[in-house]
Amino acid sequence: MDATSPFIDQLTAALGAGAVQAGDAMAPAHFGDWMVKAEPADHPLAIVLPRTTEEVVDVLRLCTAQRIGVVPQGGLTGLAGGATPQGGAIALSLSRMRAIEEIDAAAATITVQAGAPLQSVQEAADAAGFLFPLDIGSRGSCAIGGNVSTNAGGNRVLRYGMTRDLVMGMEVVLADGTVLSNLNKMQKNNTGYDLKQLFIGAEGTLGVVTRLVLRLFPKPASLCTALCALPDYAAVLALLRRARARLGGNLSAFEVMWPEFYELATTAHGIRAPLPRGSAVYVLMDGMGSDQALDEPAFSALIEEALEAGEVQDAVISQSHRESREIWGLRDSVAQFGQSFDPQAGFDVSLPIGRMQEFIEDCKAALRARYAPARSLWFGHIADSNLHLLVKIEPDGPTKKEIDAIVYDRVRAFGGSVSAEHGIGLLKRAFLGYSRSPEEVAVMRRIKAALDPLGIMNPGKVF
Ligand code: ZN
Repeated sequence: MDATSPFIDQLTAALGAGAVQAGDAMAPAHFGDWMVKAEPADHPLAIVLPRTTEEVVDVLRLCTAQRIGVVPQGGLTGLAGGATPQGGAIALSLSRMRAIEEIDAAAATITVQAGAPLQSVQEAADAAGFLFPLDIGSRGSCAIGGNVSTNAGGNRVLRYGMTRDLVMGMEVVLADGTVLSNLNKMQKNNTGYDLKQLFIGAEGTLGVVTRLVLRLFPKPASLCTALCALPDYAAVLALLRRARARLGGNLSAFEVMWPEFYELATTAHGIRAPLPRGSAVYVLMDGMGSDQALDEPAFSALIEEALEAGEVQDAVISQSHRESREIWGLRDSVAQFGQSFDPQAGFDVSLPIGRMQEFIEDCKAALRARYAPARSLWFGHIADSNLHLLVKIEPDGPTKKEIDAIVYDRVRAFGGSVSAEHGIGLLKRAFLGYSRSPEEVAVMRRIKAALDPLGIMNPGKVF
């Protein structure tokens, strides 16, 4: 189809010329997410940029009439190809629907359009005296609708839950143009099926999320950050238990970094090593509370106890927000590992927390059996059972496909999940069955057929 086809004309008539890009006028940024770019043959028929829910309805009705696929797009920061166009589809970008519509202080909710960048939701909440706790590295670029469609996780899940736990209400447009609008603000609402849950984590395969009501929380008054060096993984589990018992709900992050990660971050990326290199494992811990005068001594006492118990060998505690940010810079340096550890195969998996070290050793042994100098980096949100790993792809070493097989075979054997927080998209379709039973996948397909009988919503994703 070319830029002057009747279908493009219909889209243009419905939305106006400024809202439809076709042919050479298409912005290449819409051809893929951060991880997967579409081949030229898969470039979209058009990029459509609606401004309102009504315009989304118009687009979906036209696509239903013509049996044309629709790939919803937010900030295009995904890591699994979920928003990457596939043959013969249009890209439907929510980038012009970015309004912060309302903050309800009594209900502690914020109502936003799906294309709002995560950071703008955080800032609007902050300006109104609240915290919107979802936080991921791509906050400035990613869209809240994409966060919901992938059920994004991040660093504060252990305290505030996944994105799913933050969604109170939703407006979503189905493939045939039906609008399901339930901008609910009430915590308790048991009135039949909770339909919004179907669309959270569905990666745009069931409908287009257009508006959201999200939960807000009190802004914490105190922040304590510590970096600890530990003798082994058993000590990590002991420290997590101790931190939960001592800090209760104030424990807000518990990030684990294995030594290869720490080594690279503090050598290749110019980051000062707050603790000596060479420990078996490092933990970055945040406590956020409501009273600095009480919270700081309690946090220090926890670290002191852990040192006395031998769970922690060495630790630094931040004395200021600046020092806290510096410690976090170590963990966030992973965003630059694309340069220092390139090319790489990256993984986002979940595993039973008690068996994580065993999994790592098993994977490392398998990688080394295939290629003795194999290098890998390990880190994760351990309290959520979420492990990330990066394997360096070497000319003489295993291919990406072989590395996938080594890692995912073990994830399956350990009863883990092939996707913890990034979604399935295109990249993990072949492995969905490693973590979901045939019966579960069959029910997913029945739900898909019920809501999208023509199969136009984000075709080729997830299944
Ligand atoms: Zn993560």
